[in-house]
Amino acid sequence: MQAEAFDLPWMAHAFSTRLGGVSEGAYTSLNLSFAVGDRPERVVENRRRLAGALGYDPQRMVCGRQVHGDKVAVVTLGEAGAGALGLQTALPATDGLITGTPGLPLVAYFADCVPVVFADPENRAIALAHAGWRGTLQEIARKALEKMTEAFGTHPPECLVSIGPAIGPCCYEVDHSVAARFTRWGPTVGAKKSGKWFVDLWEANRQILLGAGVRPERITVIKMCTACNRELMFSHRRDGGETGRMAAVVMLRSEGV
Ligand SMILES: [Zn+2]
Repeated sequence: MQAEAFDLPWMAHAFSTRLGGVSEGAYTSLNLSFAVGDRPERVVENRRRLAGALGYDPQRMVCGRQVHGDKVAVVTLGEAGAGALGLQTALPATDGLITGTPGLPLVAYFADCVPVVFADPENRAIALAHAGWRGTLQEIARKALEKMTEAFGTHPPECLVSIGPAIGPCCYEVDHSVAARFTRWGPTVGAKKSGKWFVDLWEANRQILLGAGVRPERITVIKMCTACNRELMFSHRRDGGETGRMAAVVMLRSEGV
């Protein structure tokens, strides 16, 4: 699925679903991660299918080894293929990727955590961040924007940002100790009748983006809850940790395309 605001001729992006792959069991069917116990040859085939659907070379994709941190890497052709065929070659401890290089697909993996995709139309730069609750608290979305500014002269008010499918406030129950850390973003946290607490990671990331200078009309929140959509989405929380991963992909198209 795609964000309409990102329907731009010079870039491609997508949030995958769990449909259309060859994996079985808990990974049925389009699991795209090597890190969850699925058979590697199936992951390779699933990645090949997604790449075919979007029109990129799966051998050129760049992936970070996601650790719920806040490190954002600027990548170029030298990193093409990092993590494409296995975890070992992924960029170490990296949860955010930025590039200004056409033909280099940035890819990250999700099953409840929030994918945040950035496009800077002025400077033709793109970014992708993996923001679970830890990454959100570390404001990785703001840090990605700052790094885009540093590397490409990005002005946050000109940026388009899409917040992809992730666990919603409907399903994301947390302990009070976690909830308390989200109160800085106002209505992103609340008490449930059950006595539990919920956190709205979509809104927390939106607030972080607004705080960093992105205009509200340039932020698209897809508002699809991974846990609510069993047929379409993997959910780490709903599936008790044994599940696959979907991908967010963003790429600058090659010149002249
Ligand atoms: Zn839900």
